[in-house]
This record gives sequence, C-alpha cells and structure tokens, in this order.
Amino acid sequence: MGIDVWIDRAIPADPVSPEPEAAIAPRPAPAPADSTVPTSTLEQLKQQVAACRACTLHETRTQTVFGVGNPQADWLFIGEAPGADEDQQGEPFVGRAGLLLNAMLKALGLEREHVFIANVLKCRPPNNRDPRPEETVACEFFLQQQIKLIQPKIIVALGRHAAHSLLKTDQALASLRGRVHSYENTPLVITYHPAYLLRTPSDKGKAWADLCLARKQVG
Ligand code: URA
Repeated sequence: MGIDVWIDRAIPADPVSPEPEAAIAPRPAPAPADSTVPTSTLEQLKQQVAACRACTLHETRTQTVFGVGNPQADWLFIGEAPGADEDQQGEPFVGRAGLLLNAMLKALGLEREHVFIANVLKCRPPNNRDPRPEETVACEFFLQQQIKLIQPKIIVALGRHAAHSLLKTDQALASLRGRVHSYENTPLVITYHPAYLLRTPSDKGKAWADLCLARKQVG
C-alpha cells in the first residue's frame, strides 16, 4: 500500500454597593467541568473538553487534545491517547505514528483535512503509559459526543485501546480486525495502531486490508 511513503468568572466590581465582607470571603475552587452535558456543536464540545478535570490527567497535561479534521467527515479515526508531541501541539497524531497515519490516509486518497482524527483520551498519560480504566471511563462521554456530532460513515479504531473502549471487550486485536463491527449503528473497523506498524512493518499488509474493508463501507 506504499505506507513507507505513507496527527471565576471575575465578579465585576460594583462601584456603588460593595459586597459585605461575608459575601467576599474566599470562594472554593471551581468544580470540575460537568462532562455530561451534551453540546450541539463540536466547537462547544471542544471547550468542554478543555475545561475538563474529571480525572487526574488534567494535572499533568500541557493542554487537551480534542481532535482535528472535518466536522462532517465520512471517516473517523480513533487512536489511544496523546503522546508528548500531541500534548505539546494540541493535535492528535503529529509524531512518528502520525506520519504513518498520514501516509495510510494518502494511500486511501484522503488527507487529514478530509477525515476526523481523535483519541479515546483527550489528555496525555504521563510517560506514555497505557490509559487507566478510570481515565477511559471519565473521557468516554466526550468520544461518544464526537461520534454523535460528526456522524461518520465509518469509524476506524486504531489499536486495541480504541477497539476495547468502543466495543466493550478485551478480545485480542487479531481476533477483532478483518471484519465490520457496529458502534451504535455506525460501521466500525478495527486495525493496528500506526505505532505498532512502525515496530512491525510486516503487518502493514493486514492494515491495508482493514482500510480497504473500511473504504467499502463508505461507498
Ligand atoms: N498515538 C495515539 O494513539 N494518538 C495520538 O494522538 C498519538 C499517538
């Protein structure tokens, strides 16, 4: 497939009637963002994600990594979590794995701008450790909302974390790829994570077969 050539509220001061002392006592820190309120646009959802403090990853992130691409994309690619480069740049798949993902897209005749690329987690797990179950649960609402708002024709899960999170299974990736699943009536194809393919280029042929299967669903 040629993948070698193949991302408080400040209370306005009231000059007329200053608040009594009791009312201006220090206020508690703002509560974590309410991450269960559906929004009507991706942009609103992005702001909700940026304010999220639902798990401890907010303490170590540089910024949230919401996702990038066409809000009306036919294709939605879902990875695992931002790495160091993504945490710095605020965009998914911008490191080495991202270059391979770009090449995979190109082989399909697609560009990053045509598709939407997101992750299960919107914040980087420190030291690139695996996502923890409670982090995946805390972030799940955001991914569900992204899928609802984008309404893609095909979801491609990149790697086992995305596959397990979407399918609520812990089956091996090898047994999940090569067929079409469904995520709330949207076709879902599972394939290898680009970082795995960088380590195991001999599996690129299988990944290409998965992408061709996904392409058939788009029509
Ligand atoms: N790996 C992922 O799963 N997502 C990224 O955004 C980068 C690397």
